[in-house]
Amino acid sequence: MLHFASPASPLDYLQLPIQTLKVGALGTHKALGLALSKKATFLLASTSEIYGDPLIHPQNEDYWGHVNPVGPRGVYDEAKRFAEALTMAYHRYHNVNTKIVRIFNTYGPRMRPNDGRAIPTFIPQALKNEPITVFGDGAQTRSFCFVSDLVEGLYRLLISNTNDPVNIGNPVEMTIKEMAENVIRVTKSKSEIIYKDLPVDDPKIRQPDISLAKKLLDWEPVVSFDQGLKKTVAWFKTQKLN
Ligand code: UDP
Repeated sequence: MLHFASPASPLDYLQLPIQTLKVGALGTHKALGLALSKKATFLLASTSEIYGDPLIHPQNEDYWGHVNPVGPRGVYDEAKRFAEALTMAYHRYHNVNTKIVRIFNTYGPRMRPNDGRAIPTFIPQALKNEPITVFGDGAQTRSFCFVSDLVEGLYRLLISNTNDPVNIGNPVEMTIKEMAENVIRVTKSKSEIIYKDLPVDDPKIRQPDISLAKKLLDWEPVVSFDQGLKKTVAWFKTQKLN
C-alpha cells in the first residue's frame, strides 16, 4: 500500500488546514489499519517539511526538526510528523512492514500550473513573459528532484528491508532567485523577477543528506536540473495556460 493522500502544496494546505490535519492523522490511521488486516507492506509519503525551518544543514534522517506547531504550515508538518509516529508504532507493536520516505522538493511534467509551488508557477509566468513572483529576497534555498528520480527511489525503498525513514531528494541546492533565473534562461523568456512577501515560516534552507539512500538503496538522482527543467518546460508548452 502506498499512502500519498494529502495536499502537498503550501497554497493547498493553507486553504485546507483541517482536512490536511485529518488526512495525515485519521487517514493514516485508517490506511495502517487496512495494511494490518491485509498483511500488506505500507509506505508512507512523508516530507522534508518534518524538518521545519532546519537548524542543521544538510538535513539527515537523525535530525528531529525545527517546526512551529501553531504556525500556518504546522497543519502539514505536524500531520506528517504524527503520521510518521503512527507508522512506526504500527511497525513496532503490530509488526506491519512499514516504510517512510521523506520526500524533498520534487518537480516534473503534469504539475498543475496553478499549484502554487515555485516551479509550476514560474514556468507558466516565464512562457507568458509575465513577471516571475519570487517570495522574499529569493535567497532561501531548495533542492529540486526530478520526478523520475523520485519514483526510482520510492520503488527501491518499497522493496528494501529497512523500516526507518529515508530521505529521497536531489542534493543540488540553489536559491529560489537562481532557480527563477534558470527558468528564464531555459524558456528564453523576457520576464523580469518581482519580489513578493515571504510566506510565514517559509524554511530558509533545505537540502537532503542522501547518504542513507545511497547506502541502503544504492540510489542517487541521475537527472540534472537542466535536463529536468527542459522536460518540464516542454510539457508546460503543450498546456493551455491562462
Ligand atoms: N516561492 C516563490 N514564488 C512562488 C512560489 C514559491 O518564491 O510563486 C518560494 C517559496 O516561498 C519557497 C520556495 O519558493 O521559498 C519553494 O516553495 P514551494 O511552494 O515550491 O515548496 P516548499 O519548499 O515551500 O514546500
